[in-house]
Parts: sequence; C-alpha cells; structure tokens
Amino acid sequence: MVENQIIPRGVKDQRVITTMFNVPRHLFVEPTLRHQAYDDHPLPIGSEQTISQPYIVAAMTEYLDIKKENKVLEIGTGSGYQTAILAELANMVYTIERIDNLSRDAAQRLQQLGYRNVRFKVGDGSLGWKDFAPFDRIMVTAAAEEIPSLLSEQLMENGRMVIPIGKPFSQKLYLLIKNRGRLKQRPLFDCIFVPLVRNKSLKLTD
Ligand code: SAH
Repeated sequence: MVENQIIPRGVKDQRVITTMFNVPRHLFVEPTLRHQAYDDHPLPIGSEQTISQPYIVAAMTEYLDIKKENKVLEIGTGSGYQTAILAELANMVYTIERIDNLSRDAAQRLQQLGYRNVRFKVGDGSLGWKDFAPFDRIMVTAAAEEIPSLLSEQLMENGRMVIPIGKPFSQKLYLLIKNRGRLKQRPLFDCIFVPLVRNKSLKLTD
C-alpha cells in the first residue's frame, strides 16, 4: 500500500510514511473486508459511513504537518484509523463522532492497540470541543458546505486545518492556515467525503 499507492503519488514526509507502515489498517474494517483493507479505495465501516482511501489519509496528514507537541482536533472518528495515524504523530488527539456505535468501537480498537493519547466524544463536531480549545491542528474527515465558524475560532494562531468543502459529490480539499486571526485558504484537490451532518435543534410546536 505504502510503496504502490502513497509514495508514488508524492507523499514525502518520512514520519507520515513510517506511520502508514505501522498502523494495521486491516484491524479497522470488519473481518469480511480484511482482504481489501490495503486496496486503493475507501471501504464501508457500517452506519453508511466509510474509511477513507489510504492515499487520502496520508495526503491529508502530510498537509496538516503535525509536530509531536501538537494538540489535534479530529472531526469524524469513523473507524478510528485516521485517529490512530494522528495519535502516532501528535501529543494529544481529541476526536468527535456523531454516531455513538462508531465512536465506541473506535475507542475500543485504539485502547486495544495501546493508544493512550486520544479522547473520544459523541456529538456534532462542527461545534468543536471548547473545553480543550484552542488546537494546533484540526482535521475534518466529512465534507462541510462552508467552514464551520466555531472550528476556525478554536484553531490557534499559525494553526492548520485540513477540511473538504463543497456539495455532496463535488468537493475540494482545503488547507487553511490561521494568520493574524484570519484563515488563508489553499485549495488542494477534488475529493468525495460523506457529508458533515449538523445536529438539528428540536423544533418545538405547541
Ligand atoms: N476518518 C474516518 C472516516 C470518517 S467518515 C476513518 O478513518 O475511518 C466521516 C465520519 O464523520 C463518519 O463516521 C460520520 O458519521 C462522521 N460525521 C459526520 N458528520 C459529523 C459531525 N457533524 N460531527 C462528528 N462526526 C460527523
């Protein structure tokens, strides 16, 4: 996977490459899909969600440029595969998932694999995680129609965020860097992610 898909497409950061070698991707998909775990495409993880294609995980991680002292916020825990990659590279990872089961399974997997620097939360990640803000890095693995304002607020000065923006089936991945309080935007490449679902507030009727 690393030698055929990730390095030839231009991922160069040695720390990212080593991490992609080290994290056992087959443990993040269900047993019947294990033979496809290292193939060049996303895979279903239940609840109509997917684990991203390996190259996308590596590229997003490289653009985030994580330093080992960094505190990282991840939105969209899913299987926990990307979470494990982040946890290898950062000091602390805070990860939010809206689907209870996925969060619970991911937490159990990461616990079994020995990661001790991850905190899990079930909820709407577009609101961020105020108790632990600000973050050095933010990775969003579901597509938003626009940049969630609370996420930009919770990003540190000189911090980086990688986020897919756009409509279903037509999105671009962006690298955002906070500079004097404002986000500098750099479009990276076209991509397809599941949508970032905002929690709708209950409509009260009388
Ligand atoms: N990074 C994951 C793949 C994530 S797929 C992995 O490596 O497996 C995107 C995930 O984002 C899905 O699990 C979906 O349930 C979750 N998601 C969608 N909207 C969300 C929101 N508002 N807050 C938190 N998680 C959300």
